[in-house]
Amino acid sequence: MPILRVALDVPLNILFDYLPPDTGITAQDIGVRARVPFGRNTMTGVIVEIATFSDVSPEKLKRAEHIFRDIPPLPPASLDLFRFCSEYYHHPLGEVVMNGLPNRLRSSKPFVMRTSPNILGYRLTATGREADISAIPHRSVAKRRLLKKLKETSIMDSQEAKELSKRASLALKELLALHWVEEIPLALPSASPSAHRTSSLPDLTAAQKNAIDVIAPRITEFNTWLLHGVTGSGKTEVYLRLISLRLQQARQTLVLVPEINLTPQLEAIFRARFPSVRLVSLHSGLSPNERMDSWLQAQQGDAEIILGTRLAVFTPLPKLGLVIVDEEHDLSFKQQDGLRYSARDVAIFRAKQAGVPIILGSATPSLETYYNAVTGRYLQLQLPVRAVRNATLPLIRCIDTRNTKTEESVSAPVITALEKCLALNQQSLVFINRRGYAPVLLCRSCGWAAACHRCASRLVVHLREKKLRCHHCGHQEPFPSLCPECGNQDIAPFGHGTQRVEATLAQHFPNARIMRIDRDSTARKDAWQQMLKDIQEQRVDILVGTQILAKGHDFQNLSLVTILNSDASLFSTDFRASERLFAQLMQVAGRAGRGGIPGEVLIQTEFPDHPLYYALRQHDYDSLAQTLLEERRTAGFPPFIYQALLRADAPKLADALSFLATASAMVKVPQQVEVFDPVPAQLARLKGTERAYLLVQSKSRKKLQEFLGAWRAKLDVLPNRKVRWTLDVDPLEF
Ligand code: ADP
Ligand code: ZN
Ligand code: ZN
Repeated sequence: MPILRVALDVPLNILFDYLPPDTGITAQDIGVRARVPFGRNTMTGVIVEIATFSDVSPEKLKRAEHIFRDIPPLPPASLDLFRFCSEYYHHPLGEVVMNGLPNRLRSSKPFVMRTSPNILGYRLTATGREADISAIPHRSVAKRRLLKKLKETSIMDSQEAKELSKRASLALKELLALHWVEEIPLALPSASPSAHRTSSLPDLTAAQKNAIDVIAPRITEFNTWLLHGVTGSGKTEVYLRLISLRLQQARQTLVLVPEINLTPQLEAIFRARFPSVRLVSLHSGLSPNERMDSWLQAQQGDAEIILGTRLAVFTPLPKLGLVIVDEEHDLSFKQQDGLRYSARDVAIFRAKQAGVPIILGSATPSLETYYNAVTGRYLQLQLPVRAVRNATLPLIRCIDTRNTKTEESVSAPVITALEKCLALNQQSLVFINRRGYAPVLLCRSCGWAAACHRCASRLVVHLREKKLRCHHCGHQEPFPSLCPECGNQDIAPFGHGTQRVEATLAQHFPNARIMRIDRDSTARKDAWQQMLKDIQEQRVDILVGTQILAKGHDFQNLSLVTILNSDASLFSTDFRASERLFAQLMQVAGRAGRGGIPGEVLIQTEFPDHPLYYALRQHDYDSLAQTLLEERRTAGFPPFIYQALLRADAPKLADALSFLATASAMVKVPQQVEVFDPVPAQLARLKGTERAYLLVQSKSRKKLQEFLGAWRAKLDVLPNRKVRWTLDVDPLEF
């Protein structure tokens, strides 16, 4: 009797055995979903093996209830990918598998496949044709627009509907329910090879051409390429040409980007270049059905370009031909809870598995990647100059705030530069990496500072909303009128955030159009897209914002970037702080002068002679990277050592720490592996939970992995009622 071995979404590192359902099973059912009894309930998991025997005694074995044959099974390559992640990150296979599937497939309901996903058309029914549009309320804008358009054109697809209104899909659902509109399948657009070309390709720069000429002959083999191009050097154009090569060979390209916010722009660029190519995007902003559609098209090999954030790295891609990771240094490629994977590293595994190239693009590669390039494990290609004709890297200057006065954190030279920019009708960007009005509310008489009762953090002042907010857990509370400690009324915001800078600039420049861009102002769905449009169409003069603005954007008319206070990170205890600060500043600075108008960058600092600012002024990534690498080599930090954390969370810190101590005491630490003492995490309390960790490291990745494997097996059986623990391999945060 065959035994199904099912991966279930439970925190146990085992597969669960079941008898086949009454309907039977075939060898083709590996990789399909099955609904099985689990405890008193049922669960849906994925069959990853079919075995001939089970360790569970026959009378205890339960029968699977249902096998879902609604979509094709996950291919063996996907199952291998999941196994790799489970082993490398020491995370239960069942959680890895289920984490990698779209939500829609995790449910116990069968998935009803539409005849051809996404390529559905809509047309009016007879009732719909007779309907009176004027009877529809005016506020139902989407419905009115859709009906009007359908009366004119008779058929439209979902893309066209979306272009009419953001609420189109909801409106269409209602119209379908009313039987005014019906769905009809549409023929797929035929993708002829000639359609991959458009007439006006830009002439490549010498460096772009070189990069393509070097990669093209090796486009069918696995290599990890670092495309190290300064900001504005035209990395996207290199991606486009390489994708085009693969399209001609009917191969899929997976493009990973760090931010959901970056997908629409890149999507627009790709669509314009490849109008008849099937492109799908995959990110957490999609509805479950949209994500399912994209996933299916990718899994069936229909989608030729898959553009997504880190979760897209798990999409099955039968014709994978190329992988691109844009802004590879970005921290958001690392998942920070559950399965703590690095999408960049998983992407490299995938490329290797499929025997195809992977391109890691960045102006500021992570030191890990850079080191791999320097040592020859990755192949490096440089784009040292900006692509647009006459565009040069901006001039970067420091303003020494030890001898230049600042008022509300803004110095006179910055004001003058902004003034000049306004007079020239050019845009400027004021960078301050703190949202809110001020990072602290202080009592001047006793020194009390408002703190979050659930987290080990200060509450941030949001003056506009008259609230104090925790940026870690989202807790908010009203502004106190007196100091809760001493009763003094003299409490005031201390320090500067985006809202405060925005207010200051508004006073200086009452006629300027100032836009604040941070997580608060872009929180509403589609807000950022509208803001981007306003920026691109020159309806904004001064952008005030956080690191959202540092990422990949190409604003043509932006000539001035000012950085208000970044000194705090210069002396952080986190060994990655300098690397991050440098990358961030280089990226923000890189937004200036991209369109051919000369760019200027002003940095307010008390340490203008610091090597980091020196390298920044010279646009010298390499020399700073080498200095930082040397420091890391001496101090024994990654990439010269491999690390993992055992993290423990508990209501009481003592419990977390004692769990970690027990965990470390119960194993014999092999040679070449170091296990450190348990310590509280950098953010020691989050949402009322105390957090601690224990660092394990080794110069040998293999030794570390072996140790973690053996350790994990023991951890699994360690009683730990009060503690939640997890392993974090290659941690980026402590
Ligand atoms: P980055 O390397 O920072 O990602 P982008 O790909 O955004 O740079 O390109 C920067 C700008 O240069 C874009 O406006 C792009 O259209 C333009 N560009 C890229 N390649 C060329 C080229 N060969 N000739 C002219 N302009 C180009
Ligand atoms: Zn006080
Ligand atoms: Zn909090």
